[in-house]
Amino acid sequence: MIEKVLITGAAGFLGSHLCDKFINEGFHVIGMDNFITGDKKNIAHLLDLPNFQFIEHDVTEFIKIEGNLDYILHFASPASPIDYLKIPIQTLKVGSLGTHNLLGLAKAKNARILIASTSEVYGDPLVHPQTEDYYGNVNTIGPRGVYDEAKRFQESITMAYHRFHGLETRIVRIFNTYGPRMRLNDGRVIPAFMGQALRGEDLTIFGDGMQTRSFCYVSDEVDGIYKLLFSDYSYPVNIGNPHEITIKDFAEEIIKLTGTNQKVIYKELPQDDPMQRQPDISLAKKLLNWEPKVGREEGMLKTFNYFKSLSAEELHKSEHKDFTKHIKK
Ligand code: NAD
Ligand code: UDP
Repeated sequence: MIEKVLITGAAGFLGSHLCDKFINEGFHVIGMDNFITGDKKNIAHLLDLPNFQFIEHDVTEFIKIEGNLDYILHFASPASPIDYLKIPIQTLKVGSLGTHNLLGLAKAKNARILIASTSEVYGDPLVHPQTEDYYGNVNTIGPRGVYDEAKRFQESITMAYHRFHGLETRIVRIFNTYGPRMRLNDGRVIPAFMGQALRGEDLTIFGDGMQTRSFCYVSDEVDGIYKLLFSDYSYPVNIGNPHEITIKDFAEEIIKLTGTNQKVIYKELPQDDPMQRQPDISLAKKLLNWEPKVGREEGMLKTFNYFKSLSAEELHKSEHKDFTKHIKK
């Protein structure tokens, strides 16, 4: 019998790539999304497949699935700092109420559940690189707290369901991942810089650009997540690419890659923007025999080609997505 997997956040960047992966591996996939930061075009190619089913639904509301379910991957959540600053309450709700609903569903169906956590649980880290046993340095009441604390709560309630109900759970701590299907206007640094380069605008570096990030190409991230789901390890695992770079050097790389000769301009650093981030992936290597394969040059080129292929209209839409229609009064 074909195994069934529910993927929340299916119309988003990571969720849609996970849908592709599970379809290709022969699963029956149920995608769920409310499109608050996602886009139907990310899953348009799947909609007519017999093994794919889509349910438009807000996971913070009770979730009803007919029949059996073997696996759940909970990826619904705004993920870009600009998104979660615009919709702070929904961000808190999807990480808390949404996760509670999905854990309840997993328990009712006796399904294994994997939840998408993040390097943001480490906040502005004082330990470098970040290992899974680091407790983090998060400002609970800062602007990023809505995301960071929702994800920390998500980890806690997941472990509680594991310990108290014996539920099969997996927790992936995802570090900055990029690739095709990111939203051009989502504000994250890669679409931001590539969009600016393609529109002939200056690249905006926040702060002095000496903060670091480590970028993982989406196919590597998806492989790591897939392996983690089928491992027998219930504690959090970092999945990311440890190749670290300053944002300033990264802007120079993008200028070279795009061949656009843009200038960089400096803007104020957002509050609580982490100064350094690099995953320690020793655990993933040992447990899952996983490590990233796609270098930044190759991954960035694929991503740039994707952004270049978007229509001129889409490229010049500088307006950020209007979230107000999703807010229930
Ligand atoms: P994304 O914004 O592209 O996708 C998120 C999807 O979730 C969107 O399609 C959105 O419409 C949907 N969604 C949000 N709230 C919902 C709700 N209440 N009900 C149903 N659907 C809802 O973001 P992404 O980059 O694909 O991130 C996916 C997951 O991975 C998130 O949980 C995020 O926290 C996590 N993550 C991503 C990264 C990264 O670098 N991309 C890093 C760390 C963690
Ligand atoms: N950043 C930047 N210019 C931009 C967008 C982002 O300099 O136009 C910086 C941001 O301040 C942060 C880094 O790039 O230090 C990564 O930001 P992103 O929003 O991609 O994700 P984060 O890792 O902060 O969640």
